Amino acid sequence: MHPLAAPLLAGSRRALAQAITLAESTRPEHEAQAQALLSEVLPHAGGSVRVGLSGVPGVGKSTFIESLGVWLAGQGHKVAVLAVDPSSQRTGGSIMGDKTRMPQLTVHPNAFIRPSPAGGNLGGVTRRTREAITLCEAAGYGVVLVETVGVGQSETQVAAMTDLFVLLTLHGAGDELQGIKRGIMELADLCVVNKADSDPAAASRAQAELNSALHLLTPRGAIWQPRAVQASALTGAGVQGVWEAVQEYRTVMAEHLAGKRQAQTLGWFDDLLREAVWRGFLGGQDAARLQATRASVLAGELTPVQGVGQLLSRA
Ligand code: GDP
Repeated sequence: MHPLAAPLLAGSRRALAQAITLAESTRPEHEAQAQALLSEVLPHAGGSVRVGLSGVPGVGKSTFIESLGVWLAGQGHKVAVLAVDPSSQRTGGSIMGDKTRMPQLTVHPNAFIRPSPAGGNLGGVTRRTREAITLCEAAGYGVVLVETVGVGQSETQVAAMTDLFVLLTLHGAGDELQGIKRGIMELADLCVVNKADSDPAAASRAQAELNSALHLLTPRGAIWQPRAVQASALTGAGVQGVWEAVQEYRTVMAEHLAGKRQAQTLGWFDDLLREAVWRGFLGGQDAARLQATRASVLAGELTPVQGVGQLLSRA
C-alpha cells in the first residue's frame, strides 16, 4: 500500500495535498506511484456531488464559491474546490483557485482549496483535475466544486467530469443573452444570474430570458430541464436556492447519474487512448511513414481515407 493511502482515506488534508502534488508531477517515477495510489483509493471514491462552475472573469465565481462553500461547510459538508485554468501555463501562476480569493473558505476546517495545476496543455490540466476529484472523494469530501473561466474549451472539459454544470451570468442592458456563447449555454444544467442585488428588475428579466432560451435549447424528452435562477453572491441571497436546485437535479437524475459518470469515464479513457496512439505515431518509428503519407495526401496521390488505410495496414 502507498504510504499516503491510509492518511488520505482517514481524511488528512495534508495527505490529500501531498497526493495531489504527486499526481501533478510529471516525473515518471512519481507518475507510477500516483497511478498506484489512485488505483488503491479508487474503490473509496465516487461519493461526492461533483459540480462544475463557470462564468466570465468578474461574474462573481470566487465570491459565489466562498458564499456557497462557507454555508455548506457550516452545515457539516466537507467541500473541495478545484480549478481548471489552462491559462496558468502562460502566466506561470494561476488566475483562479487562488486562496486569497476565498479568505473564509480557505481557513474553514471542512474545506480544501486547490489552485489549477500550473503548466501543461488543457489535456494535462484536466487529467490532473480528474485525478484530484478522485483523491478528494477518497479523503471524504462530499462536495467537489470544479471552477473554470468562462472562455474557451475548458468548460466542455469540466462539464465532462462533473455531475452538473452551473453557469454564472450577469444581467445587463438590452439583450441578456449577448455574450453568452451558445455552446456554453448548451452545457449548462443551471444558470445563475448573479449580482441580482445591484438591479433586481434587470435580474428578473435576465432570468426569464435565460429560461426561455434554455427551454429552446433542451432536446425533447430530456430528463432534466435546465433552468435559470438568480442570486447575490455578495449578500448571500439565493445562494441556498442554488444548492436546492442542485439537490433537485440529483433527485431527478438519480437513476441516470451512474450511467452519466460511466459514460464520462469511458469518454476520457477513449480520449487518452486516442492521444496515446497519436503520440506513438508522432514519436515512434512510424513518424517517417506518417510524414510521407501526409505528403502523399497533400499531393493528391492518396485520398485521406486511403492514407489512413495504408498507414494502419503494416505491410
Ligand atoms: P470572478 O472573477 O468570477 O471570480 O469574480 P469575483 O468573485 O472576483 O467578483 C468580481 C467582483 O464582483 C468583486 O468586486 C465582487 O465583490 C463583485 N461581486 C461578486 N458577486 C457579487 C454580487 O452578487 N453582487 C454584487 N453587487 N457584487 C458582486
